[in-house]
Amino acid sequence: MPTPILVLNCGSSSVKYQMIDVDTEEVLASGLVEKIGLEDGNLTHKTGGQAYRIEETIPDHTAALSLVVRSFEEHGPSLKDAVAVGHRAVHGGDLFREPVLIDQSVMDGMMSLAGLAPLHNPPGVLGMKAALAVLPDIPHVAIFDTAFFSTLPAEAYTYAIHAPTAKQYKIRKYGFHGTSHSFVSKEVAEFLGRDVTSFNQIVCHLGNGASISAVAGGVAVDTSMGLTPLAGLVMGTRSGDVDPGVFAYLQREAGMDSQAVDTLLNKKSGMAGLADGSSDFRDIWAKVVAGDENAQLAYDVYIHRLISYIGSYIAILGHVEAITFTAGVGENDQHVRASVIERLSAFGIHLDPELNAVRSPDPRAISTPDSSTVILVVPTNEELAMARETYQLISK
Ligand code: ADP
Repeated sequence: MPTPILVLNCGSSSVKYQMIDVDTEEVLASGLVEKIGLEDGNLTHKTGGQAYRIEETIPDHTAALSLVVRSFEEHGPSLKDAVAVGHRAVHGGDLFREPVLIDQSVMDGMMSLAGLAPLHNPPGVLGMKAALAVLPDIPHVAIFDTAFFSTLPAEAYTYAIHAPTAKQYKIRKYGFHGTSHSFVSKEVAEFLGRDVTSFNQIVCHLGNGASISAVAGGVAVDTSMGLTPLAGLVMGTRSGDVDPGVFAYLQREAGMDSQAVDTLLNKKSGMAGLADGSSDFRDIWAKVVAGDENAQLAYDVYIHRLISYIGSYIAILGHVEAITFTAGVGENDQHVRASVIERLSAFGIHLDPELNAVRSPDPRAISTPDSSTVILVVPTNEELAMARETYQLISK
């Protein structure tokens, strides 16, 4: 008997879903609802090698979830077999440190944190309400992006700002992409045939959003994202770390209000901001090869920032046995991996160029046998991670 879990990721205008059998880890169906709230809403449902599309106005998340149910009824697999629903929840703040069964108090708690994640927590709760209404007879579980980083020590999560203000407004480092960092760090242990508690590692999640974590014995001890996902590494359109003085300076000198500065740093910066709008590394690399100086600078800034973090995490962890690349850029871009590892040779870390050039969907080592640290490429799978965590909770 399969054990299907429905995994939902509800954004402000979209819902992504997968039905995963946690016994075989097979994806039984997947889909995407787009343009919720707009006239040209649509849903694509994939199962059994076929794709089915619905195009109609989808006014809200309740309508979106009804269409998801309709797609399962019309094209299968049967939703009645689902044993639970796992919901991606972005910000758990100081309230949620692990997956929880969703009830009204959990949704109220998430809404109390809406100020910390205004674009994510409210639509997440809308999706939870809608899913509870259409699938009321099975448990629903919230899996928080911040949870894996609830173990950070105070010295790592505390910002050195006026403590009473920080306390009142819950300002601290929370970290994001936790489901991916947790999943990948465990996959690394499995690949190496080691107990995750027995070694230290660094995980580089390099997608459109990007973050890096220091993991000691399976426990996160530092990460690059902060109060919000804007901090840390250079990303597709986000700046990552800047002098916080930039905010006040732009407000004063450019007459930008806080919303305008927020948009500038989140949507018009990062690789896109430096490389004339290109945020995709395939475009960046094509421009670099063609001699584009802006793209070259963007690339160099990206690598410089990444190396700075890796160096600091080696110092924090003391001894590091594995450094892993994951997500869209980390899994696919051999140039980025090579540029980073070349700069780590002072630590005795060495890349095998042939292994680095291999393209594969499987976890793999790309370092030389004499490298002091194993370098790995491990594909992330946040949906599978959520399905596993959901199943773990309902099996307790
Ligand atoms: P998200 O943060 O949206 O989940 P992904 O992890 O899917 O992002 O990463 C998307 C990014 O991965 C793209 O913007 C692109 O820069 C990069 N990418 C995807 N495929 C390749 C590839 N074949 N070569 C280089 N970069 C790639």
